[in-house]
Amino acid sequence: MSAMLEVKNIQVAYGKIIAVKDVSVTVNEGEIVTLIGANGAGKSTTLRTISGLIKPKSGEITFNGKRIDGMPGHDIVSLGICHSPEGRRIFPRMTVKENLELGAFLRNDKAAVNADMDRVLDLFPRLKERIKQTAGTMSGGEQQMLAVSRALMGAPQLLLLDEPSMGLAPVLVEMIFETIAKIRQQGITILLIEQNANAALEIADRAYVLESGMVKISGTAKELRADDKVTKAYLGH
Ligand code: ATP
Repeated sequence: MSAMLEVKNIQVAYGKIIAVKDVSVTVNEGEIVTLIGANGAGKSTTLRTISGLIKPKSGEITFNGKRIDGMPGHDIVSLGICHSPEGRRIFPRMTVKENLELGAFLRNDKAAVNADMDRVLDLFPRLKERIKQTAGTMSGGEQQMLAVSRALMGAPQLLLLDEPSMGLAPVLVEMIFETIAKIRQQGITILLIEQNANAALEIADRAYVLESGMVKISGTAKELRADDKVTKAYLGH
């Protein structure tokens, strides 16, 4: 296995607030890797830094061997990293279809874009039924699915998922984790943030526990499920 993404000792700040003190994360091709940890631990900031929304103050990020820290976000998308953000960050006044088309805005391969649209709608049949609906009128869960689908329309090699299960009813949580497993089967590598640590460790190969902007523990998902400190602090048993 070759390292697809290598995050090395990044430090990230919002003004004077240091949100990420020292984080190193590796993602190999074909893996599902998860970042878990309490609110404010720096998980979202780490993803936002990888996708170029924020520049790290120090450290290095490489993707397929190429330095990407400091690159504009659209160049990072072109290289094959797409980010599905937390919450309802879709375009509420546009239809489902228009949102999905925007996910492919950097692509010129019309036939492949259409094929991906079909593929994504097969993964999320509920969106297919609502293809002409205004996105802002959909339920929170449906908007979450749209955020993931829109990221997939960028044809990523690496998909960054920020809390895809947030606010979903239990049946939908199960469905979204099944869908994440299917996305991996289609050859897409995944870096996943989850508050639902149990479910994340079920589907992930490896995991990193973040605390106060630092990696506190890392290992295979199996090792972390067997780790007393992790189960007490994050797995609720
Ligand atoms: P959550 O699950 O609550 O999003 P997280 O682990 O993803 O938690 P981050 O969102 O990365 O954590 O936040 C890390 C720290 O950075 C927190 O202390 C947060 O208050 C701070 N922070 C995040 N975004 C901003 C911002 N735009 N401006 C200032 N501080 C921020």
